[in-house]
Amino acid sequence: MNNAIVIGAGIAGLATSIRLAIKGYKVKVFEANAYPGGKLSSFKLGEYRFDAGPPLFTMPHLVTQLFEMAGVNPKAHFDYEKKEVACHYFWSDQTKFKAYADRNLFLDEINKVFNEPKEKVEEYLKRAKKKYDLTHSLFLENSLHKIKTYLSYDTIDAITKLNCLDLFKTLHQVNEKTFSSPQLIQLFDRYASYNGSDPYQTSGIMTLIQHLEGYYGTFIPKKGMVSITQALYDLAIILGVEFHFNSPVTEIKVVSKAVQGVLVKSEYFQADIVVSNMDVYPTYKKLLPNLKPPNKTLNQERSSSAVIFYWGIEKSFSELELHNVFFSDDYKNEFVEIFKNQKIGDDPTIYINITSKDVPSDAPKGSENWFVLINAPADHGQDWDEIVDKLRKQIILKLSKELKTPIEPLIACEEILTPPLIQKKTQSHMGALYGASSNNSMAAFLRHPNFSSSTKNLYFCGGSVHPGGGIPLCLLSAKIVDELIPKAS
Ligand SMILES: Cc1cc2nc3c(=O)[nH]c(=O)nc-3n(C[C@H](O)[C@H](O)[C@H](O)COP(=O)(O)OP(=O)(O)OC[C@H]3O[C@@H](n4cnc5c(N)ncnc54)[C@H](O)[C@@H]3O)c2cc1C
Repeated sequence: MNNAIVIGAGIAGLATSIRLAIKGYKVKVFEANAYPGGKLSSFKLGEYRFDAGPPLFTMPHLVTQLFEMAGVNPKAHFDYEKKEVACHYFWSDQTKFKAYADRNLFLDEINKVFNEPKEKVEEYLKRAKKKYDLTHSLFLENSLHKIKTYLSYDTIDAITKLNCLDLFKTLHQVNEKTFSSPQLIQLFDRYASYNGSDPYQTSGIMTLIQHLEGYYGTFIPKKGMVSITQALYDLAIILGVEFHFNSPVTEIKVVSKAVQGVLVKSEYFQADIVVSNMDVYPTYKKLLPNLKPPNKTLNQERSSSAVIFYWGIEKSFSELELHNVFFSDDYKNEFVEIFKNQKIGDDPTIYINITSKDVPSDAPKGSENWFVLINAPADHGQDWDEIVDKLRKQIILKLSKELKTPIEPLIACEEILTPPLIQKKTQSHMGALYGASSNNSMAAFLRHPNFSSSTKNLYFCGGSVHPGGGIPLCLLSAKIVDELIPKAS
């Protein structure tokens, strides 16, 4: 047992390659694109630099841990700062809220802006922490599909305290029951979108997402989000991982229910272990033609996707920060449109990320690089040209009104990303950002496991399998895969 192949150099594929190299495997990574990182990549439009995908960075220790495991100083490759304000929120009635990282400032600001008693908010945050403390080992750090997970003390403890988890209420119900300010309820409901779900359907356990942001903080890598990819790629190279770019795997070879290797554009590469970082849906449908796919798992509802406008803006807005949210007036309708009607409503919530606030070289002086993200349904064959055309007009109108400045004349350059393009660039089924949605209380148990139960030595990592999408969970999927694979012999 010596040769390991990883299919895809997304964040989870990179982390898996590092872990397997540390374990003593000779690791080859085959990547369809010409660059590593998958969704976590970057591009330039003239003098403006943009991170193409995830703008929010939490739990940086999951990145630095990989360097420590390899005995390499992380500081030499990767530097980041904690943000004092996690996000700036705006409502159409001119209400503004700064989500301070400091707990006391956060509580004071909530009391000032929403008139919500501090003790009530503190109680809510404590309960969210308890949910995380009780479940992170079970749901995030171990395979849910191995009996030994259920025999651990942590799991038994979580099961005896099931009623604290709000599993069978929705996130919105928990928030609505706790707070009286509709705007604060909307703010806490928003955390469902961090895993591409609907706050009116996803389980109340998801208050723990707010805990991850509020308790551990939000961070900005000093050279932009893409430096996470660059740092892990550099570490993999140091550890001797061999990368093959422009090399799409076309088949995983299985003989007598065990993997033998992969085909890359009809060239065969032998492997004792194969880990797929490709979305699990096309892994089965395209790479494993002779294996019966687990259709029930694969056909679950997709998470939301996004339409992103990357704009070079020839002005600097002092009221904006790194993360900014302009809420819609009818949040419920926004999610009905996305998940039921597979559309984008007329007044969507707008998220704007501006890395040039923290990394000035990302835009020319006096200008800003805007990454404007609108939650969208997964791709069901909608007419995206028509949707984008209408959406662009709506959001320019809304932002011009709220920022009291006509935005259209300030747009110096533009690039647009849609769900079909997300699928084309990364193979994510239907362009979903986080694999399956978590729109029911059993969602965690319904994700595909990190191993194949029918094929020996076949494993899965990344946002479409357990424990879920987003950078931290993708890195944890690599950790779980690592723990499932024996040391090289
Ligand atoms: C617009 C956007 C915003 C997001 N916002 C956030 C955020 O703020 N915070 C956060 O934590 N997460 C966010 N996410 C989610 C996060 O980006 C993903 O969960 C994560 O990056 C997925 O990583 P991954 O390792 O699963 O694989 P991916 O990034 O999907 O990469 C998979 C790789 O596999 C390659 N591949 C596929 N098929 C083959 C094949 N047959 N052969 C070889 N290579 C193949 C692809 O080319 C790709 O490089 C966002 C995502 C997007 C797109």
